[in-house]
Amino acid sequence: RGEVRFEHVRFGYEPDRQVLHDVSFTVPAGGTLAVVGPSGAGKSTLSRLLYRFYDLQGGRILIDGQDVARVTQDSLRRAIGIVPQDTVLFNDTIGFNIGYGREGAGPEEIEAAAKGAAIDEFIRALPDGYDAMVGERGLKLSGGEKQRVAIARTLLKDPPVLILDEATSALDSRTEAAIQRTLGAVAESRTSIVIAHRLSTIVDADQIIVLDAGRVAERGTHAELLARR
Ligand code: ADP
Ligand code: ADP
Repeated sequence: RGEVRFEHVRFGYEPDRQVLHDVSFTVPAGGTLAVVGPSGAGKSTLSRLLYRFYDLQGGRILIDGQDVARVTQDSLRRAIGIVPQDTVLFNDTIGFNIGYGREGAGPEEIEAAAKGAAIDEFIRALPDGYDAMVGERGLKLSGGEKQRVAIARTLLKDPPVLILDEATSALDSRTEAAIQRTLGAVAESRTSIVIAHRLSTIVDADQIIVLDAGRVAERGTHAELLARR
């Protein structure tokens, strides 16, 4: 589950200014696609379109063969989990922050579900466990620690498609690489789309596309792209 297909997708925020021109790619279920490119290339727009924030001006986007334009907003929300670049955590426990949005889930359920989803990997790198308070009167988490909580929260929803929209781009490259490695280890039962501006930390992606001014300028594996530089 989680196959994502873009077929000749065209989009612009304003009618006379195209932001994505004829973008096509297929991410097989369980695969990982990295989308890289300079700021303004259209990377975030691509992820917003998958989530149907806007209507396409051409082409189709399919998740498991279903046209995103024709499914309910609810089923899209279940199908896709997005981890954004900036995460604001509640002044509460780590467990609460991870389980937020899961109705009726207490700390034990969350902890159990988290173990089932293998997201304990993400929590283990944190200074304390599920009960630790974060925020003003608690632990001051680093940017990398916050993103681990945010990724754990999204993984707990168990979406077939996981999008990391520059989720680790603001971190130092060692932290970024460490998080990407953990993700690689827990991501096998879902499709992942990683949006990044650095090529260096996404060696694990099966497929990389380079977006430039809304067009797919290059595609291949990490090794293939490096060999062409
Ligand atoms: P069509 O049905 O018109 O061939 P596709 O959606 O299959 O359109 O693909 C459009 C273009 O993008 C084609 O040139 C195709 O080879 C290319 N393409 C699509 N997905 C991939 C992919 N995963 N890897 C490489 N090229 C791809
Ligand atoms: P990236 O994520 O690669 O930095 P974006 O998808 O954010 O690129 O932006 C692609 C283009 O679309 C840029 O020219 C940007 O200015 C424009 N853009 C992004 N969001 C909006 C918006 N909400 N309204 C109008 N233009 C936008």
